[in-house]
Amino acid sequence: MVLSSVLGFPRIGANREVKKAVEAYWAGKISADDLTKAAADVKKASWTGLKEAKVDLIPSGEFSLYDHVLDHSAAFNAIPKRYLGHNLSPLDIYFAMGRGRQAEGVDVPACEMKKWFDSNYHFVVPELSESTDFKLNFNKPVEEFNEAKALGIATRPVVLGPITYLWLAKAAKEASPDFSPISLLPKLLPLYKQLLTELKAAGAEWVQVDEPVLVLDAGLQLESQFNTAYAELSPVAPKILLTTYFGRLDANANFAAKLPVAGLHIDLDRAPTQLESTIAAVKSTSLVLSLGLVSGRNIWKTDLSAAIKSGQIAVDALGGDRVIAATSSSLLHTPVTLASEKKLTPEQKDWFSFALEKASEVHIIAAILSGSQDSAVSQALEANRTSIAKRREFEHTSNDAVRKRVAAITPEMLERKSPFAVRQEVQKKKLNLPKFPTTTIGSFPQTKEIRAARAKLNKGEITEEEYETFIKKEIEHVVAFQEKIGLDLLVHGEPERNDMVQYFGEQFDGFVFTQNGWVQSYGSRYVRPPIIVYDVSRPHPITVKWSSYAQSVSKKPMKGMLTGPVTILNWSFPRADVSRELQSKQLALALRDEVVDLEKAGIQAIQVDEPAIREGLPLRRVDWDHYLTWAVDSFRLATSGVTDATQTHSHFCYSDFDDIFPSIQRLDADVISIEASKSDMKLLKTFQHYGYANQIGPGVYDIHSPRVPGGEEIQDRLGAMLQFLPDSLLFVNPDCGLKTRGWKETEASLVNLVNAAKWARQQY
Ligand code: GLN
Ligand code: ZN
Repeated sequence: MVLSSVLGFPRIGANREVKKAVEAYWAGKISADDLTKAAADVKKASWTGLKEAKVDLIPSGEFSLYDHVLDHSAAFNAIPKRYLGHNLSPLDIYFAMGRGRQAEGVDVPACEMKKWFDSNYHFVVPELSESTDFKLNFNKPVEEFNEAKALGIATRPVVLGPITYLWLAKAAKEASPDFSPISLLPKLLPLYKQLLTELKAAGAEWVQVDEPVLVLDAGLQLESQFNTAYAELSPVAPKILLTTYFGRLDANANFAAKLPVAGLHIDLDRAPTQLESTIAAVKSTSLVLSLGLVSGRNIWKTDLSAAIKSGQIAVDALGGDRVIAATSSSLLHTPVTLASEKKLTPEQKDWFSFALEKASEVHIIAAILSGSQDSAVSQALEANRTSIAKRREFEHTSNDAVRKRVAAITPEMLERKSPFAVRQEVQKKKLNLPKFPTTTIGSFPQTKEIRAARAKLNKGEITEEEYETFIKKEIEHVVAFQEKIGLDLLVHGEPERNDMVQYFGEQFDGFVFTQNGWVQSYGSRYVRPPIIVYDVSRPHPITVKWSSYAQSVSKKPMKGMLTGPVTILNWSFPRADVSRELQSKQLALALRDEVVDLEKAGIQAIQVDEPAIREGLPLRRVDWDHYLTWAVDSFRLATSGVTDATQTHSHFCYSDFDDIFPSIQRLDADVISIEASKSDMKLLKTFQHYGYANQIGPGVYDIHSPRVPGGEEIQDRLGAMLQFLPDSLLFVNPDCGLKTRGWKETEASLVNLVNAAKWARQQY
């Protein structure tokens, strides 16, 4: 019999209960026990939902109050020293690592966050060194396995595998220069042994051990570590399902299929071509093959007939008992349920599947592959055929004007008029900024009042005009504040935006929106990605009225603020019927018109944010060039319609781009701002190395934490930066937008930032 399985479930709750509880706990409004209770309710709802969807193998242990990688670090006692000795409870240490802590005499920044593979989820990077004192502080998989068991639900616990955990880690500051986290494997394995032994004793039949590093080129160098680890773990563990996702195993399949585990999971959504080769690799073994047939990354209804066809190939080769029908990855990246969507039209709703609906899909696939005669199953299959046919029909219509415009893109449209050196001179005169110009990344605090006004507008409780008046007041306030503290290049603060991607999606044609389609981005920050369903175009100017209003109330130059094509694409759910490249170019043309309109309206600096350009990078290096070519072209297409005098800015939140640096250079933005406050200046060495000649604003403090950076701290950072960068190129700014921060810390931080820039003007 073919079993159905789900690799992981969204842990935010159908109504964002976890966010609410966690934030209430941080605010001191509820106790740790209340938080545990709220979490238990969400877990219970997920397990029950999966059970009702008739999923055979239900995950446990992957729930998290903040981040699952951080859960492992806390469990393994991989806690950097700076979080200890403050008399904090283990729970507060955990949150301090995730988000920093500045209260009652404690002042510690958060650990570094990074994107989880090529997704828009961020994990907390483990910080390890030779002196990391590994011990198993608690066994979360066992606790949650028992928690589900007490509810009468048998689960398959999930653990992040030791090789991937170590591979994701970074060397702590105190580590010796040649230290590499993977060298800690012998020290870490005993903890995994204990954890898995306890799981077996608790009665778990299977354990899902995630090793997504196996879909990376890097996996190939880890063969011996994989061999060692699984030879040690298998004898003591429940049956291990070695789980890979987000890509293809390629050459790694040669050793992965020979590891002493009981099953192997592959992602057939991302890499359908690996089906045959993996079947061939496992055929002569006794491995169970888990097929990731239902996408954990998108929201489109699965074509069940096609999935069943693929599944049948595996069943024919291996027998039904050796095949599992599964989601491609955890469903963490999808919203909880379509049932809460009341505003999608019936036609639109019929295109989609969210986590709970996907759970039913794996059940149907498994049931059909097992030869089920159940009429509910055949009806569901029939209904799916009808839905898929309807969506295909819709996909065959297109916006011909948009398609023609993309086909007519010329190389000249990707070029600014003059090279940067010429533009810089013109811009210097036009903008008249001081040395070390200070600016921000765009957003200012999205206060309760702003959100309330938007909610009222959406409910029809205030008119469009009343909302506009409110937003204009907010813009005036933000502009006045910036003038008061002495920032040089101002922004309007983005109060009109619910989200940097959603906002644009709502103004463009070709998108649809959910009411409750939240997915976790990091910690308690969730996003509601728009869904691209059709060719994209811009029916009318979008930001022009806000930016020109802001400019009208200030003599200082105002920076227009747009989200870039690649970021809109990467942070939306894309269409599955046309290429990402085509969708990106359509977005770029729409944004190009907006950029030109901003210039016409008198805006002299325009920032086009592309924080997601790197995370969109394919996981395998052979696929990089193709992506980078169209991604960079899209940015250039969006920004090259203006004269030399208009200063283009771009912003990236990440710091890892040593390996794609030529592409960053090829963007040819006049100014780029980047995250640099947490990455120890590593990045700036790269700029120096490549002789980057355009202007740069390396973030001087970390905005992901409520902590206020001291003035001297910022001065020191500027001093350090100037060791790598010529002073003529340096902008002074925070490392990201301020929308998630409160006004108090924003004001204090920015005052310190402006003072540090003034200090620098005297020193250099
Ligand atoms: N302009 C955006 C903001 O300030 C940029 C956000 C981002 O990079 N994530 O909010
Ligand atoms: Zn950012």
